[in-house]
Amino acid sequence: MNTESGMSTEPEHSAATDSHANLLIDTQDLIAQALERLGYDNAMYEVLKEPLRTLTVRFPVRMDDGSVRVFTGYRVQHNDAVGPTKGGIRLHPDVTENDVKALALAMTIKCGIADVPYGGGKGAIVCDPREMSFPEIERVSRGFVRAVSQIVGPSKDIPAPDIFSNAQTMSWMLDEYAHLREFDSPGFITGKPAVLGGTRGREAATANGIAMCIDRVLTTKHIPIEGCKVVIQGFGNAGSYLAKFLADAGALIVGISDAYAALYDEAGLDIEDLLERRDSFGTVTKLFRNTISNRELLERPCDLLILSATENQVIETNASRVQASIVVEAVNGAVTQAATQLLHDQGTLVVPDMVANSGEVIVAYFEWVQNKQGFYWTNEEVNARLKSVVERSVAAILKASAQYRVNPRLAAYIVGIRRVADAVRLRGWV
Ligand code: GLU
Repeated sequence: MNTESGMSTEPEHSAATDSHANLLIDTQDLIAQALERLGYDNAMYEVLKEPLRTLTVRFPVRMDDGSVRVFTGYRVQHNDAVGPTKGGIRLHPDVTENDVKALALAMTIKCGIADVPYGGGKGAIVCDPREMSFPEIERVSRGFVRAVSQIVGPSKDIPAPDIFSNAQTMSWMLDEYAHLREFDSPGFITGKPAVLGGTRGREAATANGIAMCIDRVLTTKHIPIEGCKVVIQGFGNAGSYLAKFLADAGALIVGISDAYAALYDEAGLDIEDLLERRDSFGTVTKLFRNTISNRELLERPCDLLILSATENQVIETNASRVQASIVVEAVNGAVTQAATQLLHDQGTLVVPDMVANSGEVIVAYFEWVQNKQGFYWTNEEVNARLKSVVERSVAAILKASAQYRVNPRLAAYIVGIRRVADAVRLRGWV
């Protein structure tokens, strides 16, 4: 392949924000369909269609230039019938209250599929950390915890990282909570660094979960990993990890892409070389002359297509041109609902986001359990337990898809909502 440096074009897609008007409506629609398949009536839907609690906070923060800015934040708790609520805190300028509600509903489904004893929660701070200094992000993180401290806690609602928040953000939040409410309470938040009570295996949890999921699906479909032709859209943290994992296992990575363009070679790409040459944002295609677009990449021949770039990539208009027999939705919402049905109808197995990227919340549960026990597991123990949860989840979705004759996304909602609906019924709320 010819190389040429310095070719600069606009990114083909920007970072995912999940901010679109229909996210809540789409999620509610799937919950309604799932409850109907399970035989629940409208009263159950009324309980589950919206979160039980939505707290909007406004809190002032002193900025570096001496001015005061008032930030808006949200903490949403969808349902706590099975246990405390759980979900990340996103720092993003475009996030809306409805996005946070939809994401909290989705966390209920994710936790239900993985069978970890939580309901869904989610939080957000409307801000752009890319334009803030480190001390400003710290003051905003602490201000948010002060504002929501009454409704969160290790047995009530447990936050975690999400878009633009990380282990450092979690450390500040933990410290603020410790001062306000409870010292010695590491289980208030997950995604912490190890020295503050974090778990081993946290950083690689999402990518490991996706890899374990792929392994399981290939085995189920009797496709040997050796020689399996793989296209990976997105060469960021998850995408590049998966490329290496699969190439090491003997798969042939025939296509990859970054935000600018894509590379495709039937004979297989040299992943080691690409990994060495990618920059810290995962950009590598600018070094090559023979590139294709992200859109074209999705339609090239392969056995396994992994979507680890951004949302709405396989949609109604291109679904029929996807040639892969398995599509893995490593990032949220990469395949639309309509496209999921079209792929399912043409015999393509879609592994939905709720299952594929559940590694983070599963390992977050392990972190919380270890905090409760005060006894910490090895990396091997974390990964062995993660593997068994992921395998059980994949099996549950495939079984529900066959039993209810529905596409795997609706099957995931059926499996995910069943537990919370049963708990609501048993508690006598409906
Ligand atoms: N951002 C994570 C997710 O969406 C948060 C999970 C957690 O609560 O640990 O899976």
